[in-house]
Amino acid sequence: MATVIDGKALSKEIRAQVKDQVPALEKKYGKTPHLVVVLVGEDPASQSYVRAKERACERAGIRSTKLTKDPSISEEELINLVKSLNEDPDVHGILVQLPLPDHIDANKVIDTIEQKKDVDGFHPLNIAALQIGTPGVLPATPKGIMTMLESINVDLQGKKALIVGRSNIVGKPIAQLLLRKHATVTIAHSRTKDLKKECLDADVIIAAVGRAKMITGDMIKEGAVVIDVGVNRVDGKLIGDVDFESAKEKASFITPVPGGVGPMTIASLLQNTLECFEVLESK
Ligand code: NDP
Repeated sequence: MATVIDGKALSKEIRAQVKDQVPALEKKYGKTPHLVVVLVGEDPASQSYVRAKERACERAGIRSTKLTKDPSISEEELINLVKSLNEDPDVHGILVQLPLPDHIDANKVIDTIEQKKDVDGFHPLNIAALQIGTPGVLPATPKGIMTMLESINVDLQGKKALIVGRSNIVGKPIAQLLLRKHATVTIAHSRTKDLKKECLDADVIIAAVGRAKMITGDMIKEGAVVIDVGVNRVDGKLIGDVDFESAKEKASFITPVPGGVGPMTIASLLQNTLECFEVLESK
């Protein structure tokens, strides 16, 4: 029976550490770290993520501002807004909540964010830094996953890690971070021939697909570590990509949904905001 990695509890610890750091930073630089979240439209999931981020900032003593924009905002207007935030010396982190309406090219907007204020770690220069291993902002979800793996002291060296999903925000960056820890990394996706075989071979499985309960216990090697990134709304409930009930019989460690990777993403965002603050203010 697997040990459950309690993302909520771990996130609470990290948020408390962040909260402890804020007064010293304020004293040192004479400013409060400030995150600006730009929300375009009224997508309920985005609204709830933004609310959670705002609340977490408030509790940690980080200033946060939400800028809500009508979905009819043009790409140019949004880019100009980001440019003005780049130039504002009192803004240390800029987060444009995705997805954006179809008429706006999200890549163009993200490219506009000043690299040092890119708390999501999505800017191409931060992605390049991640690839090369130079300093940069790490994307929040993969960073949170690595913190979870560190919390259970799993030695990743030489271990087979399977990532299911190859998105730019989860699959690809977590692959880089696992490589840094010397894991042997495989990335599966929708064209993978035999997913079950790949899963059964893995010592660590990171499921980031967006399909409820697609990884079942019979696909998991005895003793594997299973990290469930998926968030699927089914009949009003949040369900992961992993079938928790059957998977916990096989795994050594497993993350729940909710209460696993989700809270860690928010904790990592707060850490990133402080990191950006220090980089910007220590110039
Ligand atoms: P994307 O939709 O961008 O990517 C999904 C990936 O899954 C794609 O690479 C796709 O392959 C792959 N895939 C789809 N179907 C299959 C299949 N049958 N077998 C194997 N692979 C498949 O998703 P994201 O990475 O953005 O998000 C993944 C999940 O994680 C979602 O549920 C999302 O809500 C959640 N999430 C949770 C976060 C958190 O903080 N907890 C943060 C970010 C995401 P292909 O590339 O071939 O199409």
